[in-house]
Parts: sequence; structure tokens; C-alpha cells
Amino acid sequence: MNGPPAPEEIQRQLAEMLRRQMHGASEGKPADAGADAAPDEPGREPTADLFKFDYKPREVKEHLDRFVIRQDEAKKVLSVALCDHYHHVRLAIEGKESPNYAKQNIILIGPTGVGKTFLIRCAADLIGVPFVKADATKFSETGYVGGDVEDMVRDLVRLADGDVKRAQYGIIYIDEIDKIAAASNAGGRDVSGRGVQTNLLKLMEETEVPARSPNDIAGQIQAMMDFTQRGRKGPSTINTKHILFIVSGAFGGLDTIIHKRLREATIGFAARERATEAADEVLAHGQTRDFIEFGFEPEFIGRLPVRVVCHALKVDDLFLILKGSEGSIIRQYEQDFAAYGIEVLFSDDGLRRIAERAAEEQTGARGLMTVCERVFRDIKFELPSTKVRRFVVTRELVDNPASELAKILADPKCEERIVARELVDEFARRFRENHGMTIRFTDAAAELLVKEALEKAQPVRELCAVRFKDFHFGLKLIAQNSGQREFVIDKDAVDAPDKILSDWVVASYRDSGGKAAPGAA
Ligand code: ADP
Repeated sequence: MNGPPAPEEIQRQLAEMLRRQMHGASEGKPADAGADAAPDEPGREPTADLFKFDYKPREVKEHLDRFVIRQDEAKKVLSVALCDHYHHVRLAIEGKESPNYAKQNIILIGPTGVGKTFLIRCAADLIGVPFVKADATKFSETGYVGGDVEDMVRDLVRLADGDVKRAQYGIIYIDEIDKIAAASNAGGRDVSGRGVQTNLLKLMEETEVPARSPNDIAGQIQAMMDFTQRGRKGPSTINTKHILFIVSGAFGGLDTIIHKRLREATIGFAARERATEAADEVLAHGQTRDFIEFGFEPEFIGRLPVRVVCHALKVDDLFLILKGSEGSIIRQYEQDFAAYGIEVLFSDDGLRRIAERAAEEQTGARGLMTVCERVFRDIKFELPSTKVRRFVVTRELVDNPASELAKILADPKCEERIVARELVDEFARRFRENHGMTIRFTDAAAELLVKEALEKAQPVRELCAVRFKDFHFGLKLIAQNSGQREFVIDKDAVDAPDKILSDWVVASYRDSGGKAAPGAA
């Protein structure tokens, strides 16, 4: 057969050709990699200052709470597993590793778009380790057709800016792991699932992954150039012992397997009780044997001791994600419009309607993006070229963006004042959320801000942010001095914010513990 040469063959020939050429070029200059090893050479033990980890599970969970709505059980389990793992890593770096430690690799079970990836990403950010996500479906046993499982490990190095040591403590997250369970393949014939499981198992245990893929000819050439030009070798392998593996999937059908086992194990009343349990509650009872029946190799599933279920998101959860989470996409929309000097204000009613429509999509929080994209498509196109400076996202606007857009365009000034006023209140609300102190604008003060914003054609958010830029520092001082945490902003404070703030601060020093400072609510 006259097909193209196999990748190994191309690589071998290229390597040989380069070796011969380079050898000639660098004659007389022994390339002594050993004497001048690159700092990343993994043979060397990493130093203790490389990795600091002193979080407690509750702190990790508190961090996750800021971003991820619901999924409390998953957050808790994840926080504990991450702390165990990274305390162990720290001990290993200090040379105090316990020899029998079993790595806390994790299975996350749950439908799409409910925050599985988001959880891991937020956790990796907090800990400061690189994080790689891949889909199990793209792997093939040989690596030539799809991706090679080892590519994930090399990706960790890339994400750690070439720092092999840091990559060795990274997190690898593999989604759609249920798709490589043997029994789930069509007709029960395992095409490559079992082989991929075996390859992954090697990584999860401990193996040395070549820093350059055998298929990556450009990378091989680069490595050889580095070697000959600089006379030293880059890192050659990456050890996977301390890489944390997290796998996830929807595991459709696993609930039936668990349910069947539970029914067989229990009789009478208890069995009937279980029959009414929701699928995700049943999944929480999953045991190793259920995963084996689902189609995983016992050794593979045995390397994933931590198992936790992420729940489907309901309308209320989606509403909270929009309104409360730090990663909410409404912040992104605010920024998108702000780039054109347009202020968008989301009413609670509008947010709830977005949440309702997103729930219909059945793609978890991803549905929020789908709905928003549809709702704002024309508005984003039209408004920047008009004089409209503010608008409110109401329930009606979510349901009928085209006709609401037409109304806004017909009378751009109609709601300006109301919207601007609501934006002032929103500033106060966000101030409380961000700084833990309450500010309240008197009507006169709010009106003054609205008037100024409209006259200057300046965004209200920007006006407030600039006008009260030092308030969180000042009010914090006052809170420390006198315990006061609520403040009323009146017209005078809008006119001369710096003067009023410094008066209040001075008074709080004088009166600490005594009579309330001016501005007290
Ligand atoms: P999956 O469960 O499929 O891994 P993701 O974590 O990728 O889903 O979710 C997609 C996006 O939806 C996230 O980037 C995040 O913005 C949002 N999201 C999903 N679930 C939540 C949640 N529970 N809380 C806050 N945001 C979420």
C-alpha cells in the first residue's frame, strides 16, 4: 500500500536528518546537558517556596460561594478533597510525603451547564495552579486519530508558561467521561473506551509524560534546536504523581443501575420511598460497583475515590446566578453597553423572565447566555448608533425585544429620568454588597445626581463612582472608630463629597464611642 508514511516514521526521519545537520554545526562543542540543566529539569526536586497552600476547606468553599450558586454538597466535597490533595503536595515538596497516600481524584456527576467546570476553574484560580479541561470523547487509544491523553499533561505545562514544576501540581479536568464507559458504546462493543481508560489510569497513577509529543514534529525540532544552540536540554518529562484528576459527566442511565441495586437490597416501605426519589438524589447513592456495571474498569473507577453530584438548576437558581454571582453575565452586558456610553439596568422582573426562558432551554446556566444573546441581538446592533443613553430590561423587553426596542427608539427620553434614578439606587445597593456598609441617598441627593448626569450626558454609574470614589475608605475608618455602618448621603454630600467625608471622619475620631457622627442613618 502506498499511503503516507506513519507519523513515527516522518518523525524518525526528520529527527535523524536534524541530528546529522546539527551535529556538524556544533562540532567541538560538547552539548553537556547534565552540567547545565535547564531550571525546569524535572529531575531536580522542587523547592519549598514554590508552592504555598494553607487554606482550610471552609475558606475554599467561601471562595466558591462567591461565584457558584447552589451545588453546596459539591462545593463542600470539592473543598475537602482539594485541601487534602494540596496539603499532601506541600508535604511532598517539603520531603515529608506519606508513602501510602491515596490521591483524592474526583468524579463530578451532573447535567450540562450547572457549574461543574466553573467550580474547578474557580478553585484552580484560588489555589494558583494550572488547569486544563478536555473532553474524553476526543481521545482515542492510539492518540493518532483523536487526541492523546498525554497532551493534557503537556497542556498544563503550556498553561504554566513552561514551568514543569508548577504543571506537576495542576488540575486536569475531563468532561464526558461517561462516554468512554464500555457498556455505553453502541451495541456494547467497546471501540476504544477501555483502551482510553487504561491510558488515563496510567496518568492517574504515576507516569512520566514526555514534554514533547512524539507526534509534534515542530516541537521536536524546536527541542533539538534548543539543545544544539544553547547546549542544554529542556525538560524531558513531566511526572503525573501530584496532578489532580477530576472527571465529570451526566452519566445517563447510572441512576437506573443504582436504583435497581437499591431496590434489590431493600424491601417494602423503604423501597417504595426510594422509587419517588429524584434522579440526582439516587445518583448520590452511587457505589463503585454501579460505576463498574455502567462500563468502567474497576481499577479506573478505583482511582477516583471522591464522588459527588451537581444538581440541575431551577428558575430561582438561574435568577440568583444572574443577580448575585460575581461571574454573572449581566455584568458583561453592562460593560458591553457601557463601551458606547449606554447604561442598561436589569429589573428583577426582567431577570426572572430571562431565568424562566433559560430554564426552558434545559442547558443549565448556558441557557442564560442563549436567551440573552437572542434578546439583545438587535438592541446591541441598533442602540449604539442612537442618542439613547439608558434603558431598562423589563419582562416585556425580554419577551418582545423588537417592539420594546421600537418604543425606546420612538421616544428616547421617555424613561431616562426614571432609569437614572434607579441607577443611583443601584449604586447604593452595590456599595453595600461590595463594602459591607449601607449608604442611602435622600430624594434630593438622588435628584441632584440624576439632573447632573442628564445635563452632562454622563453615565450615572460613572458619575457616582467618581463622586464617591473615596467613600469606602472613609466610611470604613468611621466604622472602625465608631461602629457606625449606615450613612445617609444628602444634597450637601453630593455637592461636596470630599469635604463632608472628611468632616465625618474627623467627627468619628472625636466622638468614637460617643454621640453619632453626622450622616448617621
Ligand atoms: P458544566 O456543568 O457543563 O461544566 P459550566 O461550569 O461550564 O457547566 O457552566 C457554564 C457557565 O454557566 C459557567 O461559566 C458560569 O458562567 C455559568 N454557571 C453554571 N453553573 C453555575 C452556577 N451554579 N453558579 C453560577 N454560574 C454558573
